[in-house]
Amino acid sequence: MSWEEFKDEKTCPCHKGTYTITRQANDWGQSRVSFEMNCTPCQNTYVQFTSRYHDPGAPGGTSSFDLWVLKIDKQALDNAEKQIRRKKDAILSTAQERYLKEWLGRFGGKTKKSVWAELKSIDRSHVPSLGTFYIHTKNGTLEDYLRTWFDADRIIPILAFLGIQDSEIAEGNAEVSEQSQNREALKRQMLSRAVHI
Ligand SMILES: [Zn+2]
Repeated sequence: MSWEEFKDEKTCPCHKGTYTITRQANDWGQSRVSFEMNCTPCQNTYVQFTSRYHDPGAPGGTSSFDLWVLKIDKQALDNAEKQIRRKKDAILSTAQERYLKEWLGRFGGKTKKSVWAELKSIDRSHVPSLGTFYIHTKNGTLEDYLRTWFDADRIIPILAFLGIQDSEIAEGNAEVSEQSQNREALKRQMLSRAVHI
């Protein structure tokens, strides 16, 4: 299988040099693209970033565009994301330690259909159709499914379902919301200072 290659050279953000876009396509309809900065000052200042957004009309439901963003902006965004991930991991492991057993016990002996209906009552946007749910939980994998479903992103409705009030987890979750808002602000700033490719 061979890749066909197309190169395109464009003016860099500082206008004193160039960058190269390399597009490759093969007989299977696959394509890939890469970007190479040929200007040293821009190489020190910018990094390539692909921004994806929800687009119902596009294949797979997402579209994207490519940018040169400031390295310092990208670094700040990466740090914010790392912080959020760490916080979520901490919340999840605390919650698992305290309540996972109770969570799994709550569904013991229930039919798949009633488990499905209860999950749907907790967070309907993250439960597939009943048919898909049966496929995902066949061959005795319902417990694995329930373990995975016990996630930091829906820990608040899960605890509400269990009738549990845990102020430490609630505070952690509030911190994550605040950090997420901060991350969105950093992302907006990064995109506003970026140069479109
Ligand atoms: Zn430049």
